[in-house]
Amino acid sequence: MGSLTAADGKGQRGEPGRFGRGSVAARSRAPPLLLLRRRPPLHAQMDSVGVAAAPDAGPGPAWQSKCPWGAPNTASISCSLAEVMSEQLAKELQLEEENAAFPEVVAVAEGPFITGENIDTSSDLMLAQMLQMEFDREYDAQLRREERKINGDSKVSISFENYRKVHPYDSDSSEDEVDWQDTRHDPYRADKPTTTPRKGFIGKGKDITTKHDEVVCGRKNTARMENFAPEFQVGDGIGMDLKLSNQVFNALKQHAYSEERRSARLHEKKEHSTAEKAVDPKTRLLLYKMVNAGMLETITGCISTGKESVVFHAYGGNASEDKVIPPECAIKVFKTTLNEFKNRDKYIKDDYRFKDRFSKLNPRKIIRMWAEKEMHNLTRMQNAGIPCPEVVILKKHVLVMSFIGQDQIPAPKLKDVTLNSEDMKKAYYQVLNMMQQLYKECNLVHADLSEYNMLWHDGKVWLIDVSQSVEPTHPHGLEFLFRDCRNVSQFFQKGGVAEALNERELFNAVSSLNITADNEVDFQAEIEALEKMNEDHVQNHGKKLSMFSSDGDPPIYDE
Ligand code: ADP
Ligand code: MN
Repeated sequence: MGSLTAADGKGQRGEPGRFGRGSVAARSRAPPLLLLRRRPPLHAQMDSVGVAAAPDAGPGPAWQSKCPWGAPNTASISCSLAEVMSEQLAKELQLEEENAAFPEVVAVAEGPFITGENIDTSSDLMLAQMLQMEFDREYDAQLRREERKINGDSKVSISFENYRKVHPYDSDSSEDEVDWQDTRHDPYRADKPTTTPRKGFIGKGKDITTKHDEVVCGRKNTARMENFAPEFQVGDGIGMDLKLSNQVFNALKQHAYSEERRSARLHEKKEHSTAEKAVDPKTRLLLYKMVNAGMLETITGCISTGKESVVFHAYGGNASEDKVIPPECAIKVFKTTLNEFKNRDKYIKDDYRFKDRFSKLNPRKIIRMWAEKEMHNLTRMQNAGIPCPEVVILKKHVLVMSFIGQDQIPAPKLKDVTLNSEDMKKAYYQVLNMMQQLYKECNLVHADLSEYNMLWHDGKVWLIDVSQSVEPTHPHGLEFLFRDCRNVSQFFQKGGVAEALNERELFNAVSSLNITADNEVDFQAEIEALEKMNEDHVQNHGKKLSMFSSDGDPPIYDE
């Protein structure tokens, strides 16, 4: 269903599988693990060990009647010191006590196990399942240890998650009702008594052996355990002379099958849950916290899984009084591996805003810086009135913003929408306008502008994905702008907008740099010359230009 599931595997709002606040409520309603009993008053405790007096023991000495704990019981033990010291009595008393505490032990030891009749295996199934669960837990613990050993503190980690036996939700919660109902029989219906028809035998005369012969049959059953699914842990009993009774064997077999199905289902469920797959536990915790804080109502699912980020849709909550949270939000989770981090570092490394911090940062902090950049850039755009997502909150590498779209359906990208010629023309002029605003008012170049990062919503174009946007004086800022212009101009020219400027005209219209070269190669050379001039200026004066000047004018300095 593509949604993050709550820890208890079900939401509480009638929307199963939703990662909603209901799960927390459910948790708090769960019965306490420890049933605390009130201690009996002290005198009662003393009664029970036969030291204090029984109420009917009659009046004691004067000091006793003043005793706040009542009169001591002098009648409860009526034996001599010799008797008390007697070993024989001690043994008898102990035996009596043991019999009272474990009455069934004796009965079972002498009973059906030995006679072979009416074997009571009712608790074997439970024992077997408990043992199996224990096996599985140990197996998982071993997996986790190995996982830790392999990963160490390396950035790229390997996960054995899919090999786990006990689903994480099972290991800490018994609220997994769906699985309970699916894999075990109805807990409210009594089991049908199993009857074994008495037929089939081998041998002759007094050597006759029926298939009910426990030894033969038990060994066979043990051997048949090998036919269970390979991942079903049967222990090392197969190599031993182990005899399993039919009932235990059948129960184990049934259990093995249901485990197999359950395991398959869980893995399938996980495969389909993009949210689970896409975020690491730390991010999941961050998301949970946002939901728990009431900032988000529900995280419904994943909108997009890119190389560098995963975007989720969420319904906004209303926890924050000073801030109105949009009814629908987009959550952008920045993720990056070393490769992409390398690809991107040309954007951020040379961005003076982040330059000082760059060298000292570890990769995780750099990922957060991308999120931070996107936030700052969106805020600048918002202030200039450019249609774009509105920042809600930034937490580490998770950026929450307003959702462009409606009812969980994101607005289509320009590349996916078919506009009539009128809308296409309108979109073009709007994009031209926004590029100018971005450059002049926000002092930004988008640096990844194309039909992939423009959404069509409410009859207009919205700009998204600005984590890589830079200021025009970035050492490669003008090259990025030229690339943006090429994408935009090609898209609208192909889209049939006759008025669309070509890439060089568009570049000049946005930057007012009036580069006169009439072919691409010369144009690009002039751009690079301008960038170099700016760099030299930084070298010589220790400070950057605030803006590129228009043709011929002296550069404007940023004081
Ligand atoms: P990426 O770096 O992965 O391209 P984007 O910011 O472009 O990241 O987001 C990826 C996709 O997620 C977008 O193409 C868009 O479909 C969707 N998306 C991102 N932000 C929003 C938003 N605020 N509202 C609606 N959809 C969004
Ligand atoms: Mn994008």
